[in-house]
Amino acid sequence: MRNVIVVGSGCAGNTAALYTARANLRPLVVAGHEPGGQLSLTTLVENFPGFPEGIDGPVLVENIKKQAEHFGAEYLHGTVIEADLSKRPFRLNIDNEWHEARTVIIASGASARWLNLPNEQKLIGHGVSSCATCDGFFYRGKKIMVIGGGDTAMEEANFLTRFGEEVAVVHRRDTFRASKIMLDRARSNPKIKFLTDTVVEDVYDADQHLVTSVKLRNLKTDETWVRDVDGFFVAIGHIPNTRPFEGQIELDPDGYILSKGGARTNIAGVFHAGDVQDRAYRQAITAAGAGCMAAIEAERFLEAEGH
Ligand SMILES: Cc1cc2nc3c(=O)[nH]c(=O)nc-3n(C[C@H](O)[C@H](O)[C@H](O)COP(=O)(O)OP(=O)(O)OC[C@H]3O[C@@H](n4cnc5c(N)ncnc54)[C@H](O)[C@@H]3O)c2cc1C
Repeated sequence: MRNVIVVGSGCAGNTAALYTARANLRPLVVAGHEPGGQLSLTTLVENFPGFPEGIDGPVLVENIKKQAEHFGAEYLHGTVIEADLSKRPFRLNIDNEWHEARTVIIASGASARWLNLPNEQKLIGHGVSSCATCDGFFYRGKKIMVIGGGDTAMEEANFLTRFGEEVAVVHRRDTFRASKIMLDRARSNPKIKFLTDTVVEDVYDADQHLVTSVKLRNLKTDETWVRDVDGFFVAIGHIPNTRPFEGQIELDPDGYILSKGGARTNIAGVFHAGDVQDRAYRQAITAAGAGCMAAIEAERFLEAEGH
């Protein structure tokens, strides 16, 4: 029986592990399909406080893990495939083995939706991004492309005009899901150009490990062409990793955990941390902060229960 099982080993999970380990709770961390979380996909992180020169994403998240292990956190390679949170102790099925815990911290993140282009995954962190706040600064004076037709795409496009010499918004239809106000703001921004009824067929150049151009296709005319691009931002949404908890904890219509204040879920003793609940900020520092909050809540919960 564990005091705490932390689901996920990104910034949120590792920080929750650090705090609960330092509180002598010997947490078990389930690393999941992506050990280190989303930061393990990127290169330089320039906005995590404390690193004036920036720090490599994988190094940052590995450092937090080492810090947690130093205080006694244990890591398990595996994935939670099923959960029984209906009674205590809580039970988690990790790769077909059931584990019991007095508290659970869910820090399983939200994965960006990608376009599944042949070269897209090879260029993540090298020009392909899902986060304008994180990576916009790298594209000062450069050619930027944003893919999507919703509010997020409009917001990212507007934000990216602070950096890029031009921002092309590519959308497969000529109507938009974005709200009128967001669309109007983007349309009135002189740096933003719209390419509607258009899809991206691939992004280049994987051989150079750098985005240099994309291949586009107009869906109405079937014309294809190549356009030079330096920064390629995919803004078509995120998928919260909550499937094993469906039907167990309250989720919003998109699958994000519904917070009951602080780090609390609707189940006493089950806490949320990071992007799995946060559709607004989605940053390493906010995820780490949320991991700290969840850990402190778990400690207090266990103490109140006499553990
Ligand atoms: C390419 C890229 C670049 C970025 N750059 C920056 C940046 O420069 N600055 C910044 O602040 N933010 C950046 N971000 C955003 C930042 O990475 C995220 O906000 C942060 O990682 C969220 O942390 P998290 O721990 O909540 O989730 P994640 O990092 O998504 O971690 C989720 C963890 O849960 C695990 N998991 C999922 N499902 C299960 C399961 N069923 N069982 C067990 N484990 C599971 C995964 O394996 C993973 O370890 C970037 C994101 C991307 C994709």
